[in-house]
Amino acid sequence: MSNSQSAAVAGSSNQQIDSLPSPESYRPVMWEIVFSQDCNLRCRYCVTGYGRMGGTAKFMLPEVWKPLSERILQMSAGRKTVLLDFGIGETFLHFDEAMRFLDYLRERASGTEMKIEARITTNGTLVTRKQLQTCLEKNISLIFSIDGPAALHDRYRIAADGKTTHRRALGNFKLYRSMVTGVANGPSCTVSSVVAGDARLQDVSRFWRKLGVQQYKAIPVDRSRHVGCFPQQELMAIRNQYMDDLKQVAFAEAERLKGQELSQNYVGPMGILTSWMSMLKSSPCRSCGAGYSVMCVDANGALYPCQGFVGFPQYSIGSVSEGLIPEKLAHFRAARTQAEKACSSCWARFLCAVGCVAADPRKGIALDTETGCEIAKAHVEVAVNSFQMWSAHRKPNEEAKPQA
Ligand code: SF4
Ligand code: SF4
Repeated sequence: MSNSQSAAVAGSSNQQIDSLPSPESYRPVMWEIVFSQDCNLRCRYCVTGYGRMGGTAKFMLPEVWKPLSERILQMSAGRKTVLLDFGIGETFLHFDEAMRFLDYLRERASGTEMKIEARITTNGTLVTRKQLQTCLEKNISLIFSIDGPAALHDRYRIAADGKTTHRRALGNFKLYRSMVTGVANGPSCTVSSVVAGDARLQDVSRFWRKLGVQQYKAIPVDRSRHVGCFPQQELMAIRNQYMDDLKQVAFAEAERLKGQELSQNYVGPMGILTSWMSMLKSSPCRSCGAGYSVMCVDANGALYPCQGFVGFPQYSIGSVSEGLIPEKLAHFRAARTQAEKACSSCWARFLCAVGCVAADPRKGIALDTETGCEIAKAHVEVAVNSFQMWSAHRKPNEEAKPQA
């Protein structure tokens, strides 16, 4: 069966819309800010096309971030905390401008109850000590994209001039980690690793464990519409290998942790801990907030239900200057509901963290029920089985109580 046949597609324009959503029904708690649609690296597997999402390099100017600030204050009114997530492109290419935006928004929010938090994902190669100090002072959390040991990282994460990047990125991660350590209520400093080619998750895990990084994000390499690094067959082999490795890592950790409290002692990929904690608290994984509590804004000020649709203007649901277009939002929500019907009969739904309808916007607002769901189910299976192993040694009254 082809992907287009197997995907739960719901992006057709003749979707039945009964009523238009009220603007109050969209109250973002997280704003995905595509501030810099550009990057200084040329990672061989880059899924965002060097941050440009299929377009040309650009970054957000005051004529966009000023009305954006007003839009955030208006749409997220009543929220106590709002997170700005600078997750696409390399924000440090335009760091000063991004800080002007953050300062402006915080200043505008100062008369309200809204607290503006900020997080930047960075390749860590441009950042200076002074900028790190600024991040610390402004309480900005940083996620460094580093693929574990130098030999694995430098194979794919290369600079535009072909130079390797591991030494600089790791040095800046260590520096920021040392700066935030011991700061009460300070920002966090974490890492995110892509497992690509013949890299093994165990090697990545061993590397972070040795450096004292307890919990980190790890994901198998994904298909890129922009750089086409791995053919489909090779991608499948990499993902299968990754899942085998994840099983070993999760079971080894469950064995090591026998009878110990989880959240403080767990060492490994965050995805497994998140699933374990969901089971411990009998609380299902939340689906993503696209179209409800998450909003994405590109460098031109176009609004999207999430960052997966950036680069596809047909899925834009408005703009920072004009606001939401109710018909477009209604269409997205109806299409999402339709696509997620496949989840209601799926055994993995309570622990599935995927459920992403932006798997491939060229095919509509759709779940990738083939590859995406296969990976999600394999992840849930590993998490459930390893949790049972930990659970068998659980002491009575072990940590979190089920949520009400
Ligand atoms: S750091 Fe690499 S993966 Fe991230 S946007 Fe730049 S080129 Fe792409
Ligand atoms: S694996 Fe996840 S996204 Fe796929 S059908 Fe099941 S619950 Fe839905």
